[in-house]
Amino acid sequence: MHVHDAELVISAVNPSQYPQDQLPEVALAGRSNVGKSSFINSLIARKNLARTSSQPGKTQTLNFYAINQAFRFVDVPGYGYARVSKDFRLAWSKMIEKYLSQRENMELLFLLMDMRHEPTRLDREMKDFAENLDLPYAIVLTKADKIKPASWNKHLSMYKKALELPSVDALFPYSATKGYGKEEIWDVISSVLQL
Ligand code: GDP
Repeated sequence: MHVHDAELVISAVNPSQYPQDQLPEVALAGRSNVGKSSFINSLIARKNLARTSSQPGKTQTLNFYAINQAFRFVDVPGYGYARVSKDFRLAWSKMIEKYLSQRENMELLFLLMDMRHEPTRLDREMKDFAENLDLPYAIVLTKADKIKPASWNKHLSMYKKALELPSVDALFPYSATKGYGKEEIWDVISSVLQL
C-alpha cells in the first residue's frame, strides 16, 4: 500500500477524546521495547512518526494515526513495564481494556511479540483477552532479522505451542529493519478493513 498521508490525530487518555467518526481502526499492542514504533514507522515508510522510545513505558496515551484518511493505527501503550506502581498499572490496564472492549471502530488488533523469545505471561494474557472478546487479531513476531531463516520454523512452532494456536496462520514474522513481512501485514489490513 502506498501511504501518501500519515498524521498523528490525537494522543488520548479518555474515550471522550477519541476521534468521533466512522473510520476503521487497527490497534497495536505489545510490551515495551518489542518494536512497536519501528513497526508503525516501517509499515508506513516514515522515519519518525511514531517515536521510537528510548525510555520504555514512557508513552502512556493511546496515539491515533490517520493513514491516507482511510483508517487509523492506534498505538496502545506498551505493557509489562516493571518500574511503575501498581496503581499506575491498574489505570493503564483500564484505559486499554476500555478501548479494546468498547471501541466500535476497532476492526483489527495486532499483538506484537519478540520472535526470539518465548511469549511472556503478559503476551499470553493479551492473546487470551483478544480471544475472549472475540476480537479479530494477528500476532506480529518482531525482530525476525535477528533469527536465521533456517530457524524460523522452530520459533513459529514455539509460539504456536505456547499460545495454544490451532495453526501458525495467525503468526507473522516481521522485520522493521529488513522489511520482511511488510506485504503480508498490508494484505491482512486490506482484507480485514476491505480497503
Ligand atoms: P517500542 O518500545 O515497542 O516502540 O520499540 P521500538 O520500536 O522503540 O524498538 C525497540 C528497539 O528494538 C530499538 O532499539 C529498535 O531499533 C529495535 N528494533 C525494533 N524493530 C526491530 C527489528 O525489526 N529488527 C531489529 N534488529 N531491531 C529492531
